Amino acid sequence: MNELLRPIAEALGPDARLHAVGGAVRDRLLGRQGGDWDLATALMPDEVLRRAKAAGLRAIPTGLQHGTVTLLSGEHGFEVTTFRGDEGYSDGRRPDSVRLGVGLEEDLARRDFTINALALPVEAVAAPDWRDRIVDPFGGLTDLAAKRIRAVGDPEARFREDGLRPFRACRFASQLGFRLDEATRDAIPRCLDVAAKVAAERVQVELTKLLCGVDSATGLQLLADTGLLDLWTPELRPMIGCGQDARHRYPVWEHSLAVVAAAPADPGLRWAALLHDVGKPGTRSVSEDGEVHFQGHEGHSLALAEAILRRLKVGRAHLEDVLALVRHHGNHPDEAWSPAACRRFLRRLDEDGLDLERWGAFRLADQLGKGFGDEPYRSAHDGLMARLRGIRDARPPLRTADLALQGRALMDLAGRPGGPWLGRLQKHLLEAVLEDPGLNTEAGLRQIAQGWLEGLEGGA
Ligand code: ATP
Ligand code: MG
Repeated sequence: MNELLRPIAEALGPDARLHAVGGAVRDRLLGRQGGDWDLATALMPDEVLRRAKAAGLRAIPTGLQHGTVTLLSGEHGFEVTTFRGDEGYSDGRRPDSVRLGVGLEEDLARRDFTINALALPVEAVAAPDWRDRIVDPFGGLTDLAAKRIRAVGDPEARFREDGLRPFRACRFASQLGFRLDEATRDAIPRCLDVAAKVAAERVQVELTKLLCGVDSATGLQLLADTGLLDLWTPELRPMIGCGQDARHRYPVWEHSLAVVAAAPADPGLRWAALLHDVGKPGTRSVSEDGEVHFQGHEGHSLALAEAILRRLKVGRAHLEDVLALVRHHGNHPDEAWSPAACRRFLRRLDEDGLDLERWGAFRLADQLGKGFGDEPYRSAHDGLMARLRGIRDARPPLRTADLALQGRALMDLAGRPGGPWLGRLQKHLLEAVLEDPGLNTEAGLRQIAQGWLEGLEGGA
């Protein structure tokens, strides 16, 4: 047996019928790492608590009303849930009540997809023949081998019980590189009213996992084809079929999907990839010579991205990260930029808390998503990044805090207390040292400050 599971299995005893269930079994079969073992048992939660405590295990009653107790083995927490059936889903969000004390098969029947309705007795977890000991009442193993996501039971009924499930279906398609079984897929458009009622936070978790999947383009296209896309992100729909200029091979939607796929699988980068051009359709125009223009699309993209992310209730740090990436994606330093212009660019990133490497990763994905192959973008990008890294590594002053003369010294020099003038002077000094970092000495700044103060007095 797995060494972490052993103390739990021993504490609960052989009549507990302890099984690993759900995603953990699926992921083990797929050879996917990580993820915790979710455990299910025939024992009632109070009995789980009692036996765990008697054996000296730490137990936390995390969700007693749903039958869940968390048991600690070493540093590791395991959720142990009593076999249960879910009853009545009148709101399309959560069961009205749960019925504890049912059999394992009924517990598996309440699960969403056949590949998630698998169980493995804990005593078989480390056995050589563990694959043959999987409990699979709904054909999950066949679907897993066929890379197919299929609802347990009638898909429409299952989606109407819980409107999150259609999103989960698309998420698993992206995450596992699977396709949806036809009947499961066809049921989604009929259940959009229920999918619209799910809490924003839960939808956001699924969309983020979908975006970070190995086959994100399939997942996103499924959202579009089934209509799920319009429930929470209607601003994305006009991207479909929105043609671009000759510098892009793809329309805006296909380009965005390609950028998502090309970006590292990080939530911020992937959300930014999806949203960076969302403002293009609304700003598209064609001039007399047939050229396509997207005047001011950056600002429009930023506003729409913010509206979408706020609607989905993403956390503040995540929101700011995505918006910074969107804000700076149109900024392309190139060989023609002077060192001072590059330093100003580094300062703008710094002001937005955006790391150069992160900006670079996103910029490269945006370039690769244009659809003309890796070359020539990669070499040009590497050259640009080498130049920017060189400038960054020389640690030029980028903030007023980096100035060789601090506010106190400037007040002494001016012979006046702090006020709005001080911020303006510091900005002026920063501009000067961005232009020429050699000026960032006490003497150098003193001279510039004196000149500026004279001008101030003359003007006052
Ligand atoms: P991951 O952990 O990668 O998100 P998972 O399949 O483990 O995927 P969890 O949310 O951890 O998903 O849920 C564990 C198990 O609980 C699932 O495998 C599934 O059997 C069941 N489950 C989760 N959410 C639902 C749902 N909305 N409807 C029905 N069953 C669900
Ligand atoms: Mg899980």
